[in-house]
Amino acid sequence: MKRQMVLGILFAAGALTLTVNALQQPQAGASGQPAPRVVEVDKLKDNLFMMRGGGGNSAVFITSAGVVVVDTKNPGWGQPLLDKIKTVTDKPVTMIINTHTHGDHVSGNVEFPATVEVVTQENTAKNMEAMRPATGITPAPDAPKNIFKENGGRGMPKRTFKDNLTLGKGDERIELHYYGRGHTNGDAFVVFPALRVMHAGDIFSGKNVPLLDANNGGSGVEIGKTLGKAADGAKGVEQIITGHSTVMTVADLREYAAFNNEFAATVQAAKKAGKTPDDVANTYKIPAQYKGYAEPQAARLRANVQIVWDETK
Ligand SMILES: [Zn+2]
Repeated sequence: MKRQMVLGILFAAGALTLTVNALQQPQAGASGQPAPRVVEVDKLKDNLFMMRGGGGNSAVFITSAGVVVVDTKNPGWGQPLLDKIKTVTDKPVTMIINTHTHGDHVSGNVEFPATVEVVTQENTAKNMEAMRPATGITPAPDAPKNIFKENGGRGMPKRTFKDNLTLGKGDERIELHYYGRGHTNGDAFVVFPALRVMHAGDIFSGKNVPLLDANNGGSGVEIGKTLGKAADGAKGVEQIITGHSTVMTVADLREYAAFNNEFAATVQAAKKAGKTPDDVANTYKIPAQYKGYAEPQAARLRANVQIVWDETK
């Protein structure tokens, strides 16, 4: 009897450990050991790779001067990303471009050599100084409060732009664009014109109801318009690296702009008609023409309705 009780307690303690590990390390295996940090590679062009896992999708662009990396994943994923880059090139990483401030896109910056130049939109640089939690996201208990402060400012942007910036020359040119508020107030679109590829970051994370991070300047009224401008500006682009999904097209981006404009219009019409945010959230369904869009989580949907509502006078 006594032995059974002890075993029961040990078993319960084991289960508890597993739960805690699972919270801290989302990819923990069934054994409770942290899963190995595996970065997966999709070759898009001879000198451009999409690297997946451990946060947002990264782009790795190999130029004669060195390697340009777009987005560096969650804390602890900078080194696995660097290791994976070594499997496709001997060249050193010389530049990081961060599409926006979120921890699953910028945290790996601190694991790159301090000589690497970091480039962002100017609002993102300000957001990275503060590293405020995103609207509606509860940070994991072990998440760094401000990974850049905790690393003596390493990985912070030193070069910023407001609307547009051209980096490099000829076939190695990179065009950065800011088209307005959306997921945050600093979402950069990164275009590799010679390769006809764009990295859109989380303003186009996939076919879904977006995370609108009002804490970092995001906007539910503006996001559709911003996406529309990006689609208009994406002349010649054939492949779009999304923040967290598969590679998509400009047609997909345009559809996503329409989807977000329609969402904002639905909320605004309901407000005008004297309904409540709950009325909208309780009745909203993804319109039938948007094929393959994920039905939203209730909390995300309710938060987005409120954000559009509050932005509408
Ligand atoms: Zn994000």
